Amino acid sequence: MYNIAIDGPAGAGKSTIAKLVAKKLGFIYVDTGSMYRTLALACIRAGVSAEEKDKVVDVCNSVQVSLEYVDGNQVVRLNGEDVSGYIRNEEVGNMTSAIAVYEPVREILVKMQQKIATEQDLVMDGRDIGSVVLPNANLKIYLTASVETRARRRYKELVEKGVECDINEIAKDIEDRDYRDMHREVSPLTQTEDAVLVDSSDMTIDEVVEKIISYVNK
Ligand code: C5P
Repeated sequence: MYNIAIDGPAGAGKSTIAKLVAKKLGFIYVDTGSMYRTLALACIRAGVSAEEKDKVVDVCNSVQVSLEYVDGNQVVRLNGEDVSGYIRNEEVGNMTSAIAVYEPVREILVKMQQKIATEQDLVMDGRDIGSVVLPNANLKIYLTASVETRARRRYKELVEKGVECDINEIAKDIEDRDYRDMHREVSPLTQTEDAVLVDSSDMTIDEVVEKIISYVNK
């Protein structure tokens, strides 16, 4: 199997890039963030707060997360229900990075991710893919961009959706989430030694995709 790991902070464009790279190569794209988001949604629905570790772990152990591919797009299910439309908001995002610090929560998803990688050629993105999930990936990319660039992109996305927002608040949220993801005890976000650094601040999406494909062809 050919496995490509893409890690990096929130808003660097990982999912957009990973999806396009996968499509070009005919691989599947596994969005691990959406798996953590699905468990976070389960906790919110269960009325559990992120600080209640034991309850969070109980909820995560009692639900079933599954992935499915429809026309090449990943659909994530919670106990069989397609929750793709419920996991992309700020409430779930914040809950997600708060419960992703718990080792037993990560274990559930890491096992699933490792199994998928033995069965299919794939591009997988997340925070710990190159470091923990797929340490033997054929290619590891660390994709990043400046906080300003990421905040601007997120702001544009939200405005296009008609959501009112403040760019400074978005930048602050991004910085907070980066800090949590990079400084947590369990599987912090880091660039592994064997990962190729790609800074997308001044690159177009196509340029980033081409760059990654060129590494695959090397
Ligand atoms: O990538 P996305 O923004 O969907 O991820 C949401 C959160 O899930 C991240 O901020 C991070 O805390 C957590 N996450 C993680 N490990 C992964 C993917 C996501 O801890 N492999």
